[in-house]
Amino acid sequence: MKKQIAILGATGSIGTQALQVVEEHPDLYEVYALTANNKVDLLAEQARKFRPEAVVIANEDKYSQLKEALSDMPVKVYAGTDALCQIVESQPIDIVLTAMVGYAGLRPTINAIKAGKTIALANKETLVVAGELINRLAGERHTPILPVDSEHSAVFQCLEMNNPVHKIILTASGGPFRTYTLEQLKTVTKAQALKHPNWHMGAKITIDSASMMNKGFEVMEAKWLFGVRPDQIEVVVHPQSVIHSMVEFEDGAVKAQLGVPDMRLPIQYAFSYPKRVHLSGERLDFSKYDTLTFEKPDTTRFRNLALAYEALHQGGNMPCIVNAANEVVVAAFLSDRISFLGMSDVIEKAMTRVPFIRTPDYADYVETDAETRRIAAELVINGVK
Ligand code: NAD
Ligand code: MG
Repeated sequence: MKKQIAILGATGSIGTQALQVVEEHPDLYEVYALTANNKVDLLAEQARKFRPEAVVIANEDKYSQLKEALSDMPVKVYAGTDALCQIVESQPIDIVLTAMVGYAGLRPTINAIKAGKTIALANKETLVVAGELINRLAGERHTPILPVDSEHSAVFQCLEMNNPVHKIILTASGGPFRTYTLEQLKTVTKAQALKHPNWHMGAKITIDSASMMNKGFEVMEAKWLFGVRPDQIEVVVHPQSVIHSMVEFEDGAVKAQLGVPDMRLPIQYAFSYPKRVHLSGERLDFSKYDTLTFEKPDTTRFRNLALAYEALHQGGNMPCIVNAANEVVVAAFLSDRISFLGMSDVIEKAMTRVPFIRTPDYADYVETDAETRRIAAELVINGVK
């Protein structure tokens, strides 16, 4: 039986690479649904090629354009976030790949878990915002959540059935500004920040990587995926991105997963788990690397990493506050409305301004997200005093 897959965010970096995986294994996987936010042309082209049962465009204004583009195809066309949240519940779907960006991934992921679908989780923001809720729901429904983030896939591949994790060591490339001084960071531009040395990703995660918020989010993601305490998660800067992450066990043994930086591997592993299947493309060639290096992360220059650990320690709705403020400042940075270092200032301020809730429920997350966006947007306009 072919696995039926729904891809949320099909037109993005992860989404398009997931479709390459499907294309390579037509005997194993079939696309049931594809969703996107705005890119009608690409979504229509994907629908023609992969012939899903349904496509959903989140932006309702694009509905007629998409419907028209697929008028000769036997595919159901829907629009809007409600439709996106409903499509994941469709009976034939086995796996939902959450490859949309940001907080918008939360509601469809919750619905997919409630419907008992296996989650291939790329959308780390879901676990950052509401890790506790997601874990509870997944536990109740016995829904597997398989990591797609390369570091977490690496950790997942290193786990041992009968031995608990002593420590998780997440590797970080350090991004384009790894060697920049604080003085230099004051004036970096979005064009510089968008040039990631090792990975080609969507704009938001590329900025998060440059600011190290991505690594902060990955620490939170690791906590929820692997059930460890924050002090059991260490970050090490490893600019070559050959080691994707590591696990240390009780006896001091450290296991690592290595490979070329290619997101198709963790995507495919989430689809094929527990099996491994062939993946075409470049393989790790050790003769190309004469050194692998490791550094401690610097939280003075990359304050976001410290803010993320702080949010994780505080718990409650604090990670949700950090996520929402970060989404606002990243959008502002991408439209030249805030400086690179100004992003951390706004996030830090938002953490003190938005009311803290120790045990938030879903409605509290929605409220926190909205309130934080309002406050962060104001801070972007008026500056942090
Ligand atoms: P991207 O910007 O390339 O693509 C995002 C996709 O989500 C697009 O298809 C877009 O149409 C859709 N989308 C955006 N906003 C939406 C909304 N409000 N409603 C519905 N759909 C929406 O992003 P990406 O780089 O593919 O990243 C996707 C997710 O995967 C992010 O959470 C990111 O952190 C995570 N991730 C990405 C990578 C990577 O290599 N790109 C690695 C690890 C984790
Ligand atoms: Mg990652």
